Amino acid sequence: MKALIAGTGLGGLTTALRLASRGYRVTMVEKFHQPGGRLNQLKKEGYTFDMGPSFFSMSYEFKEFIDDCGIEMPFEFHELDPLYAVNFLKGNRTFIVHKNLDRLAAEFESVEPDFRNKVERYLSSAGKLFHDTEGKVIRRNFNSIFDFLATLATVPMKHLPKIFRNFMQELDRHFDSDEVKQIFSLTAFFLGATPYDTPAVYTLLSYTELQHDGYYNVKGGMYRIVEGLVRELDRAGVDIHLNTEITGVEAAGDSVSACIDQNGKRWEADFVVINGDAAVFRGNVLRRPRYSPEKLDRMKWTLAPLTIYLGIDTKVPGLHHHNYFLGDNFREYASKIFRNEISLDRPYYYVNTISRLNPESAPPGCESIFILCPVPDLRYKPDWSNAEQLAGSIVSDLSDRIGFDLSSHIVTRKVLTPVDWGKSFNLHRGSGLSLAHDLNQIGAFRPSNVDEKLRNLFYVGSSTVPGTGLPMAVISSKLVTERILKRYGLVPA
Ligand SMILES: Cc1cc2nc3c(=O)[nH]c(=O)nc-3n(C[C@H](O)[C@H](O)[C@H](O)COP(=O)(O)OP(=O)(O)OC[C@H]3O[C@@H](n4cnc5c(N)ncnc54)[C@H](O)[C@@H]3O)c2cc1C
Repeated sequence: MKALIAGTGLGGLTTALRLASRGYRVTMVEKFHQPGGRLNQLKKEGYTFDMGPSFFSMSYEFKEFIDDCGIEMPFEFHELDPLYAVNFLKGNRTFIVHKNLDRLAAEFESVEPDFRNKVERYLSSAGKLFHDTEGKVIRRNFNSIFDFLATLATVPMKHLPKIFRNFMQELDRHFDSDEVKQIFSLTAFFLGATPYDTPAVYTLLSYTELQHDGYYNVKGGMYRIVEGLVRELDRAGVDIHLNTEITGVEAAGDSVSACIDQNGKRWEADFVVINGDAAVFRGNVLRRPRYSPEKLDRMKWTLAPLTIYLGIDTKVPGLHHHNYFLGDNFREYASKIFRNEISLDRPYYYVNTISRLNPESAPPGCESIFILCPVPDLRYKPDWSNAEQLAGSIVSDLSDRIGFDLSSHIVTRKVLTPVDWGKSFNLHRGSGLSLAHDLNQIGAFRPSNVDEKLRNLFYVGSSTVPGTGLPMAVISSKLVTERILKRYGLVPA
């Protein structure tokens, strides 16, 4: 039984290995020149940068995956504690977010009286929601909206108010200080949205980061995940064809008979798994009216990335491994950033000093730095001709805040805009984390992982179930594999 997988993002790679380990013959095609999708790598003048993701949560999903495939973990990862540092413009004050609650309480003592009790109550509520929904809602396929709603109805009623509040409103109920509320609300940005338009149900992410499983750094850099998986795929006999984009589909009745690439080459298979965006592929390749360009634009997409990669010729003081730099107008910033209504010249941004935990990413005594600034997608800001100028102002803001002039130490600099991200990986309007996670875009309301018309066409990745982020891509591969096995069964090896 032959499978074709279009896309080598984490969702595609993990699906390929799950299928290959069950005896399916798998071929992969990828439009980019390197495997990995958004989990990619950039090398420049002796510096190595992870292009996108810089840490992951829910490590047990990777463990489930390797057990499922019967392999050893192909990369090494270590838990982060402290998790990250957050710098506020006001007073240039930095808070360290520890996973250890005693140390976290000491950090916030001066701004939030009785923090320890408050955070325990907050995390207890978020934790109960996590455990009441994880197995039921996140790690499950749904066959209909009725099936999804019936499952939601089994979630204990006490969580219901969190559907009607936003993330920040939930934080307002537990904490008083702006600093604590803004720091805990950053997890909404990890979902590619803001705490004012993210439902309070996602406060469960505070539980996953602070109590449950935390965050992990990959030894040698995040791209080791891709290199390890590609090695395993090679061993399993899976071919990967790069620079190959599926631009058309040949159908016979209710099935795909072949996919066509940009050069007109036909790729035949018994079934096909699309790892490119599940909404974009239905719209741009299958030309489904429900996913027309206008309808895609009307869907809710996550923020786009402006990313900056700096090779620095010395060690940089004042930076931790993961750092957030916030301004002094959080509410205004969060409420307007989506629509490009505020000036981007002093934006909020995230900095990963990659070489701090992975020294091999820079020459000895040097630093490789990644900066991510969430920006409006191309619907709201189509013109990025000022990208270099914006990047310059971010680097200068960062220099002021850490008290170290970066500009005179830059050996190499690369800037990627939403236009670059969109073109490289077929991301709609450059949206970084794909479809947003509003309640009308999750579960059975998200584009399904099995096609509506073509019965041997499946989808895996961020815009299908369950959602965005690396652990979700791994769960997505489990869910689509379940669908495939149900349809075609186990293949004798
Ligand atoms: C800047 C940035 C930072 C991030 N940081 C984190 C983080 O710290 N932690 C975390 O967990 N997540 C993070 N994420 C999210 C994470 O990267 C994604 O959720 C995840 O990598 C998506 O994997 P995927 O398999 O769904 O899709 P993708 O990685 O998008 O892979 C899909 C692949 O399909 C290819 N493709 C598309 N269309 C076609 C076609 N027609 N034919 C052939 N190939 C095609 C694309 O080129 C791509 O390689 C970040 C994302 C970005 C952009």
